[in-house]
Amino acid sequence: MTAFDPSTRFADIREGVAKICARFPGPYWRDLDARRAYPTGFVEALIAEGYLAAMIPEEYGGSGLPLTAAAVILEEIHAQGCNAAACHAQMYTMGTLLRHGSQAQKAAYLPGIAEGSLRLQAFGVTEPTSGTDTLALKTTARREGDEYVINGQKIWTSRAEHSDLMILLARTTPREEAQSRTDGLSVFLVDLRGKMGNGIDIRPIRTMINHATTEVFFDNLRIPAGSLIGEEGKGFRYVLSGMNAERILIAAECIGDARWFLEKGAGYARERVVFGEAIGANQGVQFPLARAQAHMMAAEAIVYRAAAMYDAGENPGVEANTAKLLASEASWEAGEACMQTHGGFAFAEEYDVERKWREARLYQIAPISTNLILCYIAEQVLGLPKSYGPGRAG
Ligand SMILES: Cc1cc2nc3c(=O)[nH]c(=O)nc-3n(C[C@H](O)[C@H](O)[C@H](O)COP(=O)(O)OP(=O)(O)OC[C@H]3O[C@@H](n4cnc5c(N)ncnc54)[C@H](O)[C@@H]3O)c2cc1C
Repeated sequence: MTAFDPSTRFADIREGVAKICARFPGPYWRDLDARRAYPTGFVEALIAEGYLAAMIPEEYGGSGLPLTAAAVILEEIHAQGCNAAACHAQMYTMGTLLRHGSQAQKAAYLPGIAEGSLRLQAFGVTEPTSGTDTLALKTTARREGDEYVINGQKIWTSRAEHSDLMILLARTTPREEAQSRTDGLSVFLVDLRGKMGNGIDIRPIRTMINHATTEVFFDNLRIPAGSLIGEEGKGFRYVLSGMNAERILIAAECIGDARWFLEKGAGYARERVVFGEAIGANQGVQFPLARAQAHMMAAEAIVYRAAAMYDAGENPGVEANTAKLLASEASWEAGEACMQTHGGFAFAEEYDVERKWREARLYQIAPISTNLILCYIAEQVLGLPKSYGPGRAG
């Protein structure tokens, strides 16, 4: 017996998720895509069945399941042709709150999140001028009495308009005064309710996929000092450990996308008859699908290995990044094979292939781009000179 068989572990969860997804077929997503609208009904259905509270401890009303179970949930959503981007942040920001939040913060927010009355869907890290160089971010949080005052701007803060809470990374000590290169940033759990136009302005960005992403402007936003998660100045470390969870979960979604593309592509190849035979009888059609299948299986193994390590309390930076790299490439390869197999019909919206193909492309760029993962592996695993940020060689 293998250590982890992704196809059978948490089979009941897969079955339950697939049942929900069956209520939200292609036309539902196509309609939302055309209107760039948020899948409220789908998210509410997941909440109602408790899936978005999977990682919240039982004492706070959740199921207390490990990250592996969350990965299975998100993978299955994507494999069924749906998209978890509207709600996956609740899973990947959870680690930051669970591992570093105070008892008071957990007691105040987790029960509401578990029952669905509070939404923790926004994660504000990226800024327009700093990009991947997180340590260069400029949003500041200044302590004034028992409050922090936030000023600055975030970009690509997805779901900010559909969230009550935001995990925010901001600078509390100027870079030049911080004790070390990675000190001086802090994480806050910002309650967005009642703050629109009162310190916060959110502007949607229209993108090639339906992702509810936004720009967020902070103008003297006052938040209680108790919004700080963990210790002031240590936020970069907290966010990094949360990012491992994020990468593993996004990678699981990519595996789900790859499965969807392969099932759809192989199904079409079996049925589409040209020149008097099924196109799938030709190796030129079979091989790209078979190769993508092989790469998907290899990526799946590292995704669940990284998840198991995370659940064991380890800090699997190399595995989580490798999982995201390989899974995003596997889903893209499967998407390309599925597209090519469908010929002209790939372009018809009613096949859902073009929508999924657009959606799958994101994960080679966000939450971290392929190049930056390669930089990290080159440095951390292969001992090559650092090729990004301060301290790079040359
Ligand atoms: C739809 C969408 C949703 C998103 N949601 C969120 C969110 O909810 N919260 C959030 O905080 N962020 C979010 N992001 C931001 C995302 O994480 C960033 O876009 C991503 O990390 C890349 O940063 P950047 O766009 O600033 O690219 P840049 O950092 O400007 O990089 C541009 C290109 O240059 C390459 N590059 C840069 N430096 C190097 C180097 N040293 N060596 C080699 N190549 C290099 C990169 O690989 C990349 O391809 C989202 C982005 C998108 C598009």
